[in-house]
Amino acid sequence: MTTVTALPSLDKLVFDNRFIRQLPADPDMHNHCRQVFGACFSFVSPKPTQAPQLVAYSKEMAHSLGLSEADCESSCFTQVMSGNRLLPDMQPYAMCYGGHQFGQWAGQLGDGRAINLGEVLADNGQHWTLQLKGAGLTPYSRMADGLAVLRSSVREFLCSEAMFHLGIPTTRALSLTLTGDTVMRDMFYNGDAKLEPGAIVCRAAPSFIRFGSFQIFTARGELNVLKQLADFTIRSDFPQLLPKSGQIEKATYICWFEEVCRLTAELIVHWQRVGFVHGVMNTDNMSILGITIDYGPYGWLDHYDPEWTPNTTDRTHRRYRYSQQPEIALWNLLQLANAIYPLINDAKPLQNALALYNATFEHGWQAMFAEKLGLKNWQPNSDAKLVQTLLTLLAEVETDMTLFFRLLAHVPVENQTLSNTDCLAPLSDAWYQPDSLSPDYRQRFADWIRLYSQRIRQDNESTESRQQRMNAVNPKYILRNYLSQMAIDKAEAGDFSLIEELLEVMRRPYDEQPDKQHFAAKRPEWARNKAGCSQLYSSQMRI
Ligand code: AMP
Ligand code: MG
Repeated sequence: MTTVTALPSLDKLVFDNRFIRQLPADPDMHNHCRQVFGACFSFVSPKPTQAPQLVAYSKEMAHSLGLSEADCESSCFTQVMSGNRLLPDMQPYAMCYGGHQFGQWAGQLGDGRAINLGEVLADNGQHWTLQLKGAGLTPYSRMADGLAVLRSSVREFLCSEAMFHLGIPTTRALSLTLTGDTVMRDMFYNGDAKLEPGAIVCRAAPSFIRFGSFQIFTARGELNVLKQLADFTIRSDFPQLLPKSGQIEKATYICWFEEVCRLTAELIVHWQRVGFVHGVMNTDNMSILGITIDYGPYGWLDHYDPEWTPNTTDRTHRRYRYSQQPEIALWNLLQLANAIYPLINDAKPLQNALALYNATFEHGWQAMFAEKLGLKNWQPNSDAKLVQTLLTLLAEVETDMTLFFRLLAHVPVENQTLSNTDCLAPLSDAWYQPDSLSPDYRQRFADWIRLYSQRIRQDNESTESRQQRMNAVNPKYILRNYLSQMAIDKAEAGDFSLIEELLEVMRRPYDEQPDKQHFAAKRPEWARNKAGCSQLYSSQMRI
């Protein structure tokens, strides 16, 4: 039985559980798998754990909640964040949602391995829903166990915080705990199951509502619940869109959808900027707030390969590859438009909003590439070709995307008579095999550098100021796939030091951090085809 106890160090958390107070609940209080109709959530308790142990926590996230480091290091924190204890005002629940998985309508999905504890009301008025991922079965667990293992939890914990520090909208991770229980997993889905350490990440976000949260009600014809959820979302998370009267009108829904389109476009521009590939952009994994959500088989581009997807389940069609993320986001928004259509009954404004997505993305992408290249602004006549030529060159031979843009700042652009060697030398560390570049490739690359240098000189900006601007958008440190895997290997052997160290490095991803240089190194050869480093198996919950 989960016990309710007042815990001194966490009793400063104030809860304001709007979601469950304002939206319809599933009346069935039993925890068994089922289709849940006419309700946004089901009450359910986290599964008590054997021997919870704190592995890591985010002091920045804790701070946003008003928790000190001492609070996070208390035993009650570990108990609560592993689902063993509830604070008096916590009312745990799992949310009902549906979604399109890999382009197919999948019906009801829901929080199958996530349990929300409640909404913390922070001092600044911000609500933070706390959610335990891997805390046991819920009515939405379908054929699975509701649990999570250490390796996927380390990845989610580190990446959430890395994205935050990179300035990319995301759900957050407050803590990572080991449960002390073991979980049976068939990592490669090849019949070779083994026991792995169970773990729980406590995630935090202003809202965990997804595109699929709306889709499920429209699909079922439960339009009154659809309206309640949309109104709730607008009032809670988009209050700036409410008309003076406070009454939500058709125009309010349209503004809201436009805002979701805009936020989503901005998010995808960020992903493309840093080479983040989500891996499972199903509509249930798209946040209504336009924040990155559900870190599963995500990955980071090492060498720039627009066709790359980290998700082996998606190997055949590569639906969720890097280059297709902008288009998939649009497809997902179209599904959301269909879902909220009954609130508006007019296709035109929804189509206009989708066009706004395209325009925002296009404009944002251009501005982002101008910044990455150190241009002061985007000049359509020259710069579209400049970027396209570069991207073709980068994709042609294995070039580390992150290192390339960081090193580009060091090309001596002021020199008007750059030799081929002058052009390539500052970038040599970005190539995976710098010695095997063909003479033709070297020539074409040097030609591009000369063109680029000329273009930079037009801006008349000091080198120092340009380099500073470039370094502010081109991270030196990203959560490289092999680094996470090294942290996982160590953690599975009981050593959490690399998790801590990566968390520390990722706090300042745009800074040089000379003593952390080795974390900026390109993928080592041993990691090229190693599971976890180059490819991941997503949960095969497509049933
Ligand atoms: P995902 O691919 O992680 O977005 O998950 C898709 C759906 O499968 C969601 O409804 C999840 O809650 C559910 N799911 C994934 N893994 C598990 C698990 N281990 N136990 C229960 N449900 C799961
Ligand atoms: Mg998901």
